[in-house]
Amino acid sequence: MIDYNQIENEYSVHLSNQHHLVLIRGENATVWDVEGKEYIDCNGGHGVVSVGHANKRVVSAIREQAARLMTCAASYSNDKRSMLIQKLIEITPDTLNQVFLCNSGAESVEAALKFARYSTRKKNFIGAMRNFHGRTFGALSATYHPSYKKGFEPLVPGFKFVPYNNFEKLSEAVDDNTAAILLEAVQGTGGVYIGDKKYFQRVRNLCDQKNILLILDEVQTGFCRTGKMFAFEHFDIEPDMICLAKAMAGGVPVGAVVCSDKISMKPGKHGTTFGGNPLASAAALATIEFMQEKNLAEQAMEKGNYFFKRFTARQIDCIREVRQIGLMIGIELKERVQPYISELQKRGVLTLPAGSTVIRLMPPLTISYDQLDIVIDTLTTVLKDRTGISV
Ligand SMILES: *Cc1c(COP(=O)(O)O)cnc(C)c1O
Repeated sequence: MIDYNQIENEYSVHLSNQHHLVLIRGENATVWDVEGKEYIDCNGGHGVVSVGHANKRVVSAIREQAARLMTCAASYSNDKRSMLIQKLIEITPDTLNQVFLCNSGAESVEAALKFARYSTRKKNFIGAMRNFHGRTFGALSATYHPSYKKGFEPLVPGFKFVPYNNFEKLSEAVDDNTAAILLEAVQGTGGVYIGDKKYFQRVRNLCDQKNILLILDEVQTGFCRTGKMFAFEHFDIEPDMICLAKAMAGGVPVGAVVCSDKISMKPGKHGTTFGGNPLASAAALATIEFMQEKNLAEQAMEKGNYFFKRFTARQIDCIREVRQIGLMIGIELKERVQPYISELQKRGVLTLPAGSTVIRLMPPLTISYDQLDIVIDTLTTVLKDRTGISV
């Protein structure tokens, strides 16, 4: 048999740790490895598969579109692209009335930063410590943690970082040249830290007073993950730009920026070959329609609350805190999580770390309650009974 792990470990540029699992198939919240063993996928491709693996509606939209038209230059309009743009306008606040389509989260952040500088004619950005915005130079410059940036300097100048959810520190960092404040509504990769409603409302006011753009990176939180279509809806505010990607097209690479008319760009100032291609647009449109029809936001809310209530009742000593909003869950331990994540995998539950001490769960929002119960039991076995964990 071909050793797929060996091929990837030997010939991929070494950017992730050694692979020990070969996934070849998925259906809703279940994935199978090459030996036929099944897993509950709470990793979800880092929060991509909100509508479930091999979602029938998305699959048939892709099939149909692949046979019709896969690519279409941005200088021409396209039926699927225009329907997607209209859908994004429809599901975001009325003040957001322009859409830019791209192919990934980092690209959406990159575009938002360029749009902000160009439209405000100001240069500086303020971001939050513990954030994550992506790996391209602009998005990387907007990311706080030195471990992501070390070895890649010089980065884009003009970025300042302040503690998350701390309004005083943020307002002190503002100057006359601040173009935008860039925040995640929930800091996902940084450890699942949930934004404070009062904080975001004060930030919104500050931005209005000082003529600063508020950019929300909803790449991970967007599209029902937190129990609302977008996480900023929890705060009763409207951002000037939203960055979107991950769950937007059921697994197909896509990204978007939705912006207000404070953004004013000119032809030729930005662009992308693949952005808004009909194939990804058809997948995104089917994904969003599915989310609306199945009321996935409400499902995420109910299932997340169900999980939190049942899991926290287990009283597990090695847990410092459980943070949860919808089906975005962070279990912070008093120790390093890697041994637990490996043991959970052996027991058929895929999870992902957020920093060194947080286990992050981002299952499909369509996961069944039966599977959530299995996840809770397996977590208890591994974390409380410490079965399979050597100290
Ligand atoms: C994943 C992520 C990104 C980067 O997205 P890519 O598609 O990996 O480039 C940016 N911001 C947030 C909040 C993310 O979770």
